[in-house]
Amino acid sequence: MTAPAASPTADALVTAPLDRAASGKRLDVAEIESLYRLPLPGVAAVANGLRLDRRDPDVVTFLIDRNINYTNVCNVGCNFCAFYRTRRQPDSYTLDYEQISEKIRELEEVGGTRILLQGGVNPELGLDYYTGLLRHVKAHHPTIRIDAFSPEEVLFMEKTFGLSLDGLLDTLIEAGLDGLPGAGGEILEDDVRAKAAPARIKSDDWFRIIDAAQRKGLYTIATMVIGFGESYAQRARHLLKIRDQQDRANSLYGGNGFSGFAMWSLQTEHTRLHGKAPGATAHEYLQQLAIARIALDNIPNIQASWPGQGFKVAQASLYYGANDLGSTMLEENVVSAAGGHGRHRATVRELVRIAVDAGFTPAIRNSRFEIIEWPDAQAILARGAENPEAGRAVGAGP
Ligand code: SF4
Repeated sequence: MTAPAASPTADALVTAPLDRAASGKRLDVAEIESLYRLPLPGVAAVANGLRLDRRDPDVVTFLIDRNINYTNVCNVGCNFCAFYRTRRQPDSYTLDYEQISEKIRELEEVGGTRILLQGGVNPELGLDYYTGLLRHVKAHHPTIRIDAFSPEEVLFMEKTFGLSLDGLLDTLIEAGLDGLPGAGGEILEDDVRAKAAPARIKSDDWFRIIDAAQRKGLYTIATMVIGFGESYAQRARHLLKIRDQQDRANSLYGGNGFSGFAMWSLQTEHTRLHGKAPGATAHEYLQQLAIARIALDNIPNIQASWPGQGFKVAQASLYYGANDLGSTMLEENVVSAAGGHGRHRATVRELVRIAVDAGFTPAIRNSRFEIIEWPDAQAILARGAENPEAGRAVGAGP
């Protein structure tokens, strides 16, 4: 008589998705959801292993760029936004081209290569403001890449200027647009979006616009914001929708899918969601980052978010699946308006130090994650010791 086959233990059932992920298998939505209920160290170990497999294990990258918010006038009125103003408010603004040029010159002085141009949805701006702006930047700053306009802004232009989406994107590309950042992803589940921002772009439109941008060869990244009170299932579905879009771009658009994935936690200071949305702790952020690395098997670049999480959690993120520190930013107005960690720009030295102290070689990249410079880390860190900036670096005293 043979002994009955041993049934799997409860532990084996619980960790099976993690084992499958560790061996390179793709997880389904239920398996991804189950990862949120596992102890974080095991999930992090698998995420870190996948990060080491998918990108150079020794290297952490970052970009030197600047966010420029060309207008804070916006008629969408998201409940989580402390940045926007109505046009009647005294501190509303729209930058003219020379003001934008001045900001770009500051970026050029520190060796920056890219601007991220984003604004509110300002109903007073015509198509000629946008195309004129792109042409102005290309004419006066030819080495600067322009990644501009979220799907929300593109949706406004599409509805307002009487152009098809294809026609609109062709017009913007002809004027100088290089990329369409994937801002406004948050959680791409409409019931979460409806509570956080009833007038916000719906998830179908977000993907429709991103898909068209990818088809036309534009740079895009995928984004995620946690802390609205969304469920684990909704987070898992958000990740799978992004993965599906990446599969589509890889098969139809010659691999011109998302260049990377950026995720941060909701900041609610000075917003209507303050005290109403839970936000996310450091543990929850690191858990989500690790699960994103596991779930997004077709997106090799995962960013740590120092503006949302602070430098120290961002540094820890490098062992939870992240291979990139985002960018120096020089200027950021949207997340900072709602709180965050009080730091909305970073020096090259600070990002170099984060990478080196964590055991990596820092590299400066472009927005497509191609390495364009290997900074002399030891020289940068030595210089910094005599520089007041040194006191602001990770690990420095108060
Ligand atoms: S998040 Fe963007 S679209 Fe929403 S209110 Fe703020 S500026 Fe407007």
